[in-house]
Amino acid sequence: MNCLDFDVIVIGGGHAGCEAAYASSKLGKRTGLLTISIDFIAKMSCNPAIGGIAKSHIVKEIDALGGLMAKITDHCGIHYRKLNTKKGRAVQATRVQTDKQMYSRIMKNYLETCENLFLKEEIAEKIKKKRQVFEITTNVGNTYAAKTVIVTTGTFLNGTIYIGLNKFSGGRLGEMASEKLAQCIKEFSLDTGRLKTGTPPRINKKTIDFSRMDIQPGDEQIKSLSFYGESNSLPQVNCYISYTNEQTKKIILGNMDKSPLYQGMIKGIGPRYCPSIEDKIVRFKDKNRHQIFVEPEGLENNEIYLNGLSTSLPYQVQYDIIRTVKGLENAEIIRPGYAIEYDFVKPYQLTHGLMVKKIPGLFLAGQINGTSGYEEAGCQGLIAGINASLYIDKKNPFTISRREGYTGVLIDDLVTKSTDEPYRMFTSRAEYRLLLRENNADLRLSEKGYNIGLLGRKSYKRMKEKQQFISETIDIIKKTRISPNQETNQIIEKMGTTPIKKSYTLEEILKRPEIKISSLVEQFDIVKLVNSQYYNYLEEVEEEIKYQGYILKKEREDRQRKKYNQAKIPEEIDYDSIKTLSNEVKEKIKLIKPTTISELSNISGVTPSAVDYIIIHLKNDQTYKNN
Ligand code: FAD
Repeated sequence: MNCLDFDVIVIGGGHAGCEAAYASSKLGKRTGLLTISIDFIAKMSCNPAIGGIAKSHIVKEIDALGGLMAKITDHCGIHYRKLNTKKGRAVQATRVQTDKQMYSRIMKNYLETCENLFLKEEIAEKIKKKRQVFEITTNVGNTYAAKTVIVTTGTFLNGTIYIGLNKFSGGRLGEMASEKLAQCIKEFSLDTGRLKTGTPPRINKKTIDFSRMDIQPGDEQIKSLSFYGESNSLPQVNCYISYTNEQTKKIILGNMDKSPLYQGMIKGIGPRYCPSIEDKIVRFKDKNRHQIFVEPEGLENNEIYLNGLSTSLPYQVQYDIIRTVKGLENAEIIRPGYAIEYDFVKPYQLTHGLMVKKIPGLFLAGQINGTSGYEEAGCQGLIAGINASLYIDKKNPFTISRREGYTGVLIDDLVTKSTDEPYRMFTSRAEYRLLLRENNADLRLSEKGYNIGLLGRKSYKRMKEKQQFISETIDIIKKTRISPNQETNQIIEKMGTTPIKKSYTLEEILKRPEIKISSLVEQFDIVKLVNSQYYNYLEEVEEEIKYQGYILKKEREDRQRKKYNQAKIPEEIDYDSIKTLSNEVKEKIKLIKPTTISELSNISGVTPSAVDYIIIHLKNDQTYKNN
């Protein structure tokens, strides 16, 4: 092996590439990370935030396995918020606004300190496989040999940027596209497609009148995303909320002839759940206003991100649109919004370990696989990095099942259903979402992270202590019985529930929906039985107990779904009459027209709950019964 040779070459230093390179180097593999610009490592191409609904679950899974995203976020978080607080805990999530430049810098510094990892500002142009070795040729004339390659090139493969009717080549605004590598991927005869995404303009902070907007403060009590890293200590900032209005709508509708999307210039399919403002105006005609979150991009950064105002309309139109919004009447644009169209590889060609089935040793991770989002990219990077290392060691692939994590759901959806539109994670994609809570990702996955060699001993020990606390507390709650006397019933009534007439365990009391574990342990004074330094973990105890029944039900539904796999779906089925199905699901099913439940389950975007609704509908349908 000469100095140019590596065990693993990672192409691309985005969110997938950083996790991949970290994982393989940490597992002892000499790893080279090639990226177009070292200064843009882990750049947040779009919003300056990590986490969000179903996404913080993924970040915490990366953390639980020993990856980086949550820890780096805590070093540069400037606004933490808990989302969905009025809903069940399984769908509650954390979103962290970050200082995006600090994020890149800290990630770069972190990777620089990793043993076995070598960062190189070089553009990969060609990958060739000769027997068991890959040769990667770069723009500076180097040819590296590597046992495995992980391609994580995001939106760069044949990237085309659109601003109004102007169109030019680029991987992101101001950065060159990867054209030679895109050609090389095609020469591997991989099935590829085109997708599209977009971003809003960034505004000069000095030109915004924040006093005309609603303030959205962060949640002061949340200090970290990571289970194992340091708590955040940066000053926290506010975000703001404003709205588009009739005037905004008028300007947009009056300029649709300049929209690359509506003029048919962009052919790639965009993210359904992250539509551009022009898309929202057309699709939701009756809505006279749309919410805009006004988010700082950093502590010392003068740029403000307009979340909800993604657009590819011409610069001047963007300018006019923005100035209709309350508080933005004098706003100046620093960077315009734009759309980008790029090549992706259809992910059905991958194994669950993210290796290309027909090219052993070649792995793909992140946006190149049709996903959208930093978190979705990060978890794939980690899995690909681990598996590249295991492949070299001739060991079995490392995978996560749908029951173990959102990471498992994401990869399973990609490789079994593939995707024809940008795939982002939703809690509805996970049939076991009650098991997959953000706060128990460590309990679900840290054992695996430790066994594979990514998670350190100290972190693992912390998880074991938490696990022990939870199981001991559950044990106490299950064993403690209360009897129906005056004193007990006074306490019970104080807790807002009906008095008891017979003896109950505290577990039975806790299962009552109105009972919170915090009041239970206080009123019945049981917290002293356990180490109170772990008081924060009580919520986990509550969830374990309260969700038990639902989880058993889910398992029954699963068995039922499998039982119905070969059942036929009658041609005349009226999907529109099934009110519980989303429009997206209805659209897809009507297009593909599955003939059996198994075919239905394999359609990308059709969630397990949607399959359950259809089974119930068919069971109640007379025509079906007579079949
Ligand atoms: P990226 O983060 O794109 O990183 C790719 C890396 O590969 C870069 O560092 C690049 O320099 C490097 N690279 C490319 N080609 C080569 C080569 N040949 N040799 C060496 N290095 C190479 N996500 C959302 O969730 N919501 C959104 O609204 C959203 N909007 C977006 C808008 C825009 C304009 C863009 C560009 C992205 C948007 N995204 C959005 C997507 C989000 O940025 C990505 O999902 C995420 O960054 C993907 O991570 P990745 O690691 O796969 O790729």
